[in-house]
Amino acid sequence: MRQLQEVFPNLWALDVSAPGMQARAAIVLGEKQAVVWDTLTRPGDMAALESLLRDRPFHVVYSHGDWDHIWGTAGFSRPPLNIIAHADCLRRFDDDIPQTLLRKQLAELGRWDDVALAPPDVSFTSRLSLDLGGLTLELHHLPGHSPDCIVGWIPEWGVLLGGDAIETPLPVFNRFDLLSDWLAALEAWRDVDGLRLAIPSHGSARGLESLESTIAYLRAILGRGKFDLPPNLDEFYESTHQANLNIVAAGRESHD
Ligand SMILES: [Zn+2]
Repeated sequence: MRQLQEVFPNLWALDVSAPGMQARAAIVLGEKQAVVWDTLTRPGDMAALESLLRDRPFHVVYSHGDWDHIWGTAGFSRPPLNIIAHADCLRRFDDDIPQTLLRKQLAELGRWDDVALAPPDVSFTSRLSLDLGGLTLELHHLPGHSPDCIVGWIPEWGVLLGGDAIETPLPVFNRFDLLSDWLAALEAWRDVDGLRLAIPSHGSARGLESLESTIAYLRAILGRGKFDLPPNLDEFYESTHQANLNIVAAGRESHD
């Protein structure tokens, strides 16, 4: 199922859901250019954006290199101006990204044959700013969920595009050593003047819910606060929570 809706004037969210997974792309419409923030799971996911973008030039930005954020790029009928991502995301195109695609193609024959990987042609390490005409999209490195994660900040609107740096009901960990900097970076974003909306790639796009909830979860995991797990966690988040706890336990052990 795919759903496209305007969540803020000139800011659209494209939600796709399949059994066991949901992901969201964001489309930012400036006066001169647009940005498609993530291309989701398959080329067909991008077809819904043609009427929205019309002939407006657009950039593609990858929030990070996980498959559910980058596999749809071949679906545009005309090429983007640039494909932009963190330098670590570019590096992953020579590493785990093609391996994941091959693994999925072998596991589900025929299902992923239309996916063509499109690496970034512009990469950055700390930050990069895009003038879209009347508004700015600032890209900031925010390693945590993975080392190549970025967030997008639109100062004119007070909107933060969070990728997988923020997520409800809870975030997905990969590395223990990134957790405390991840938390500190999110707390700094929460204190930014004018912030009013945080949009994650998975989970609640209401107000600052995903940002607050991810901060609370990270604080609890690091022994600095309490987090009440929502009742009726689905299977994915139930097992993600267990995996997160295991990553923390293993990380603590190796630091002792
Ligand atoms: Zn994701």
